[in-house]
Amino acid sequence: MDKERWKEIHYEETDSTNLRAKQYARELREETSQTREIKVVFTADLQTAGRGRLGRVWESPKGDGLWMSLLLRPELSPASASMLTLIAALAAAEGIENVLSVKTQIKWPNDLVVNGKKICGILTEMHADLQKIDYVVIGIGVNANMTGFPEELQEKATSLYLCSGQKTDPDLLKQEILASFDHFYEEFQKCGDLSGVKDIYEKRLANKGREVRILPTGAGISDENRGSEEWTGTCLGINEKGELLIQDTDGSVKTILSGEVSVRGIYGYV
Ligand code: ADP
Repeated sequence: MDKERWKEIHYEETDSTNLRAKQYARELREETSQTREIKVVFTADLQTAGRGRLGRVWESPKGDGLWMSLLLRPELSPASASMLTLIAALAAAEGIENVLSVKTQIKWPNDLVVNGKKICGILTEMHADLQKIDYVVIGIGVNANMTGFPEELQEKATSLYLCSGQKTDPDLLKQEILASFDHFYEEFQKCGDLSGVKDIYEKRLANKGREVRILPTGAGISDENRGSEEWTGTCLGINEKGELLIQDTDGSVKTILSGEVSVRGIYGYV
């Protein structure tokens, strides 16, 4: 499957490429329930209803970015899906750097940042039963050619253009990110977890070695952390499952599940 080419579906304008990918997957399931080997990439010049986590709006103006979603049907347990977000973050970081000399860092689990400002956001969604993923959709939004942002985003968002002074072809960016994704995804499938990419992920991890504030976000939170207070610790890195390792002030190390909390740097956005 890894060497198979991506089927590409492009929209000039759509609500959200994640929504298109999910609809495609649902229709496919009605046609033939056996088709697991799929790799489809959905892109749009403009998204009218792009979303981040917890339903937050993702600004996706026309022609200024790479707005894309990957659709896969991996043979994985639902608990493994969060690892794909980290694979996508690595792929986006490497893909960007293959096109431009812009060094990106990863803000665990789902954002790429440059100088503390968000340049790319990733939103993974899946449909699964208790044992197995049915399909997974990985939305990747890269701010490419924006020359500025609405006032409320100016402090936290940036674009490749603002960082490098160069305009980027979203299609080239897409091809590079897909090639990197194939590479890291193959490594992930070989190991069954993130042990093969953990070191390179940590090299890019903006939070590593820094004091971070853990903010329980409410949605998707585990029973253990439900209703828990905000707390502070030092980020040590990730484990092979992609969970964030945080050393508490009493010296104990806690693991944070993807999607469970928001991690904010004590200073600034990262
Ligand atoms: P986080 O991962 O920081 O919790 P989300 O994944 O929920 O954030 O992304 C949505 C948030 O990102 C929005 O609330 C907004 O603050 C910010 N945002 C929206 N559009 C963009 C964009 N194009 N670039 C950078 N940040 C954006």
